[in-house]
Amino acid sequence: MLKRWTASEPCIVCEGHPGQARGQGTRCIGFQSGEGWCHCSRIGEGTRAKYHEESQTWSHRAQGKCPCGETHAPGDPNDEKPWQPHRPIQEKPSTVHQIGDTARAKTVATYQYRDLNGDLLYEVIRTVPKSFRQRRPDGKGGWIWNMKDRPTTLYQIPELIPGLMAGDPILIVEGEADVDALRAIGCVAT
Ligand SMILES: [Zn+2]
Ligand SMILES: [Zn+2]
Repeated sequence: MLKRWTASEPCIVCEGHPGQARGQGTRCIGFQSGEGWCHCSRIGEGTRAKYHEESQTWSHRAQGKCPCGETHAPGDPNDEKPWQPHRPIQEKPSTVHQIGDTARAKTVATYQYRDLNGDLLYEVIRTVPKSFRQRRPDGKGGWIWNMKDRPTTLYQIPELIPGLMAGDPILIVEGEADVDALRAIGCVAT
């Protein structure tokens, strides 16, 4: 269905309409042709707008980007969604390494805690992924993997007493690895 431009509804391309005087260079004998296309008799030469011999008009998109290079009316916002990046792939939450999960834990160090007589009270096992587990001998050659009812003590306490009696400075550090490093250079540490 064709609808000619009128004074109240002029060409969306050139703002002319058939009621204008001839020879002024403003008159447009174009029309709306439906399906989102409009025709203009004045503008389109030299553009990618298609010329129609039968109507002597160029066809233009009624909404959005037109082949002539212009946008005569804003496009339907539903047709022109702004580009959106894909959602980032949700990373799986990292598995929390729990004490007691030995499937993936690898022992990297064992620290032995002894009483004043030098008897083993318990061991602290350091693993990767980083975790510390404690175990104590069960008296039958095995281990009990908890510290229930077992007093904790200072690391390397058998060496502390002679150090104290000799008046050596006692270095108190944060971890067993540091203690071992200090012992290796002749210090008394816990
Ligand atoms: Zn026109
Ligand atoms: Zn156009």
